[in-house]
Amino acid sequence: MYKNYIGGTWVGSAETTRNINPSNTDDIVGEFARADSAAVEEAVAAAHSGAARWRESTPQERFDVLDAVGSEILGRRDELGRLLAREEGKILSEATGEVTRAAHIFKFFAGEAVRTAGEHIRSTRPAVEIDVLRHPLGVVGLITPWNFPIAIPAWKIAPALAYGNAVVFKPAELAPACSWHLADMLSRTQLPPGVFNLVMGRGSLVGELLVDHPGVDGISFTGSVENGRHIAERCARRMARVQLEMGGKNPLVILDDADLDVAVSAAVNGAYFSTGQRCTASSRLVVTEGILERFVEALSERLGRLKVDDALEPGSEMGPVVDEAQLRKNLSYVEIAQAEGGRLVFGGTRLQRRHAGYYMAPALITETDSSMRINHEEVFGPVASVLRAKDYETALALANDTPFGLSAGICTRSLAHALHFREHARAGMVMVNLPTAGVDYHVPFGGSKASSYGPKEQGRYAVEFFTTVTTCYTKP
Ligand code: NAD
Repeated sequence: MYKNYIGGTWVGSAETTRNINPSNTDDIVGEFARADSAAVEEAVAAAHSGAARWRESTPQERFDVLDAVGSEILGRRDELGRLLAREEGKILSEATGEVTRAAHIFKFFAGEAVRTAGEHIRSTRPAVEIDVLRHPLGVVGLITPWNFPIAIPAWKIAPALAYGNAVVFKPAELAPACSWHLADMLSRTQLPPGVFNLVMGRGSLVGELLVDHPGVDGISFTGSVENGRHIAERCARRMARVQLEMGGKNPLVILDDADLDVAVSAAVNGAYFSTGQRCTASSRLVVTEGILERFVEALSERLGRLKVDDALEPGSEMGPVVDEAQLRKNLSYVEIAQAEGGRLVFGGTRLQRRHAGYYMAPALITETDSSMRINHEEVFGPVASVLRAKDYETALALANDTPFGLSAGICTRSLAHALHFREHARAGMVMVNLPTAGVDYHVPFGGSKASSYGPKEQGRYAVEFFTTVTTCYTKP
């Protein structure tokens, strides 16, 4: 059994969660402990004593811990990449890329730990000096989804520790293996006991307890809008700080003047790579009339060559869906879209491969409009719909016609349209001639509208959630 890590000790549990490989359901990745309410209580209490010690740590101590973890992840990236591919279903190259990114995130925040600065501002009054100091928030509860099982934990844990907080971390039930290894690495650093705690288990129990716990000063959550909204309400009730990163229905606009190869490769990458299981996936392809037919034809042809197979199989371009429930949901949305008038031009069916798994042919649906459910509800699978636009202005309006606002992309050779889109697309991240998914680790990440709530994550902006500010006035 892979155990929880509480107050510097590995702790087992009566119940466990079995994690299976979605590419091959006979492959058991492991049995993972399931924390109960007593374990959560212990973890929060341990974090309290850990927080008191860690807030006094020097920038060098913080750097050393984060840098050591970054180095260990880099050194083990092939092994961890295979594990990630097995637990989540991402193809090996994507999985290894995600592991590498997690290492870079730890290294980046190691650097941030020694660069944490306040501000010095002169007072309006004579002989008074003002310093704005940053202090750790305290104990933070970190709750993560299954689709980036090492990168998202890394981009929450690393800044939390860099800025002097203690952590109680709850990974997703569906993919806890890489999180367990992160905990194992942190347990072998110089972190004092209690500064980092791992409590695996159900969202409805472990997650809820953390969200409601008066000893947890802030919750950073990534997951679905439904759960995010519920968490925001609970946190508001007890006035805890909250940061939410949630779903998307991201548009990729393709204008008549786009380079067709660039547009097709942005669409294939954005909509179908990682099996479409990315919050930044291009699930809506908004295409102007002059290029529509050529684009759909070229995209369908490319999808016909896209190799869907076991995540570990050499040459696989798209792995399986994460589990049976998500696969059923994807297939049901293909049916809903057709029932509402959409035309399925490619895929959208279950596939059989050498091993039993949750394989699906990438789905492309044309002749859709904004009123259809497929264009305003997140599917979270390899399903993309095409919306026809008569010109750039209509395309922009369609792109923005969504409750979400995470990422938006445009393929065009017009500088004027690209610059206009950057200003007017209502999204936290805008991509020009690039897929809507795929971001750097050293710049802010997050969206607008229903996609995000609270301070942005990653890069130097991460400091906003994980610290509090004290304004000090001094008269010598
Ligand atoms: P989810 O909301 O079901 O679960 C996310 C996490 O929250 C899990 O650890 C889960 O156990 C926990 N949880 C569930 N109910 C809870 C509750 N009541 N209280 C506290 N915690 C609870 O999401 P998921 O299915 O794991 O992930 C898919 C979703 O995540 C998609 O909507 C996707 O768009 C989103 N996502 C967003 C981003 C982003 O940065 N915007 C990144 C990745 C995924």
